[in-house]
Amino acid sequence: MEERQKSHGRKSIQATLQPRDLMSHTPRLAKAWRAQVITLFPESFPGVLDHSLVGRALQKGLWSLETIDLRLFGVGKHRNVDDTPAGGGAGMVLRADVISHALEHALKREPDIGPLIYLSPRGRPFDQAMAKNWSTSPGVRLLCGRFEGVDQRVLDHYGIQEVSLGDFVLSGGEIAAQAMIDASVRLLPGVLGNEASLQEESHSNGLLEHPQYTRPSEWNGHKIPEVLQSGNHQNIAQWRAKEAHAVTQKHRPDLLRKRDEGD
Ligand code: SAH
Repeated sequence: MEERQKSHGRKSIQATLQPRDLMSHTPRLAKAWRAQVITLFPESFPGVLDHSLVGRALQKGLWSLETIDLRLFGVGKHRNVDDTPAGGGAGMVLRADVISHALEHALKREPDIGPLIYLSPRGRPFDQAMAKNWSTSPGVRLLCGRFEGVDQRVLDHYGIQEVSLGDFVLSGGEIAAQAMIDASVRLLPGVLGNEASLQEESHSNGLLEHPQYTRPSEWNGHKIPEVLQSGNHQNIAQWRAKEAHAVTQKHRPDLLRKRDEGD
């Protein structure tokens, strides 16, 4: 039985990432960024990651995605992966031995991938800084939980870091994994059409983004702010900086406080 599925992306690419490299006469052999996901639901991947810019980057081989089906490491005729919680209580817990077998398999396939993460509502909240950090490592290895979660011993044994998508409880780690992979992949060189858009967007500099407008120039009696139609780039930049500050003050004053404290 095939123990993994590889999505469209080629495993590695020879393509150079920047046109500039073409002039250097030393074409860089770029190893694609890798996401490895251990999950009971491999069929839920690539999911949204197959669309738009991130999906195109997957097809181009700028990154690769490998799922490892936890079920294949289950025990007995029924390949059981879970059991009742020690000490009693509701629900089921993913077994330490099953997870460990899947993890060993994952480690053997990709020994040097970077952070090993368990998606978990108990984890450190995921943020843009983490996405940036992950995008500069060779890749990430993500363990998706289900039911009541995973046996604590496996987390302790492998020193697995817990990371949360936010302060709410999902039914499984798959949506969180896709969200975090998306946030990391769009920061890889060559994935977004316009890299400049990364510099001003929300959370890249501790602020939220200024308001955006497009055609029509008047809609339902509402006009686009005049300065944006003035063609004066200095005034536009000043206006945007002021608005970014105002929007952050209104929606997330905590971000401004953090910025002032120099966190
Ligand atoms: N009993 C656990 C919740 C289990 S939810 C608790 O109270 O902490 C089932 C699985 O969904 C988890 O194992 C985890 O992998 C995933 N999950 C749930 N909420 C999540 C969140 N906010 N961020 C990331 N993963 C989450």
